[in-house]
Amino acid sequence: MKIAVLGGDGYCGWATALYLSKQGHTVAIVDNFIRRQWDHELGAQTLTPIAPLTERLKVWNRLTGYRIDSYVGDITDYEFLSSFIKRFEPEAVIHFAEQRSAPYSMIDLRHAVFTQTNNVVGTLNLLFALREFQPDCHLIKLGTMGEYGTPNIDIEEGYITIEHNGRKDLLPFPKQPGSFYHLSKVHDSHNMMFACKAWSLRATDLNQGVVYGTVTDETALDETLINRFDYDEIFGTVLNRFCVEAVIGHPLTVYGKGGQQRGFLDIRDTVRCVELACLNPAAPGECRVYNQFTERFSILEIAGIIEKAGAKIGLDVEVTHIPDPRVEQEEHYYNAKHSKLIDLGLQPHLLSDALLDSLLKIAVKYKDRVDESLIMPRVNWRHTRNDHRHVPRTAEKPARTVRPATVSSHRRARHTKP
Ligand code: NAD
Repeated sequence: MKIAVLGGDGYCGWATALYLSKQGHTVAIVDNFIRRQWDHELGAQTLTPIAPLTERLKVWNRLTGYRIDSYVGDITDYEFLSSFIKRFEPEAVIHFAEQRSAPYSMIDLRHAVFTQTNNVVGTLNLLFALREFQPDCHLIKLGTMGEYGTPNIDIEEGYITIEHNGRKDLLPFPKQPGSFYHLSKVHDSHNMMFACKAWSLRATDLNQGVVYGTVTDETALDETLINRFDYDEIFGTVLNRFCVEAVIGHPLTVYGKGGQQRGFLDIRDTVRCVELACLNPAAPGECRVYNQFTERFSILEIAGIIEKAGAKIGLDVEVTHIPDPRVEQEEHYYNAKHSKLIDLGLQPHLLSDALLDSLLKIAVKYKDRVDESLIMPRVNWRHTRNDHRHVPRTAEKPARTVRPATVSSHRRARHTKP
């Protein structure tokens, strides 16, 4: 199958492009490298040193014989995107190419506007380009579980049957997004639903949970193929962040009470879910929604899991509660359905000791690259302007001596009582 991976130089996109190439698909990557530029803007870098895309692709070709072509450009530029679609003629397009950080979108007005423009315009351009030049192509778009928020009822996969005043209808599940980033995803979902209805496009909206892990069979083939591992306050996701914090002796930064529950999945399941969506395309006119995660944890549970895994390799892990910089429920009901991808054949990699061990080992291996000043959250949802520039700190003192501001701080398990 001819598959275009938009955002293929990023975290999920890179792992997916290699995986699909390995399955024998003809894969092309589209990216404008803006994710690498955000690292410069923020004064941050991925824990793992990532090679330039051309180098990554050369090594992939040398090791496997598979070739992935790259197209460098911005998908908010319609001329660029439409000429790519005309030239490559994809049967499936996987769209990862968005600004994906909630804190980034909450820095200030400029970052909120950028996030919504980049994401909404990119997706709109893609819908128009597909309609004009490749109308039978299956669009697989990455959405997020954060589109739903945390309602006090079960979350369905995209649609819910509602009975109201004696009438009944199948309607899009209500959305309660929690940042300008999450709002951009909701706008995308609406645009996709409308375009499928109006133009008979076929689309799958993958409402993905929080992804963890960095290694897949393909990225493990060579150091040059290594994937991103973000741990900073803006782009780092919670499990990756906690691993790095544990390794450098920084208390695990639980926001507020830590009762926030989320869906999680291993990066190896991300790539497989996307493949399953490709192999089972939506029908013309259909905009289907899959909830793409495999397990649900509260943030405090994740902290407890990392604490135990750390103890196994001799780390003395402390858990701290800091004021929640986000506006969100710190304790709530959460039960989201996620059976459609399992029905298609997904066999989840559940969070295991082996995986945690490997994640912690990666964090240990690249410990010298950690900049501790990137860890504490500084973007507060309640403010319209946040200082987001970091002054890199090469810690000479052990990290544990620098105490973050906390509402409460405690050691768990054997350290609970002093
Ligand atoms: P990422 O930032 O690592 O990758 C995104 C890639 O898209 C980057 O390489 C970036 O340069 C590129 N890009 C962004 N805007 C572009 C544009 N206008 N033109 C061309 N390229 C552009 O992000 P990721 O973690 O790989 O996430 C990929 C997708 O999955 C996003 O849409 C995100 O919202 C979604 N998602 C990710 C997670 C997660 O935990 N990582 C969770 C839920 C949903």
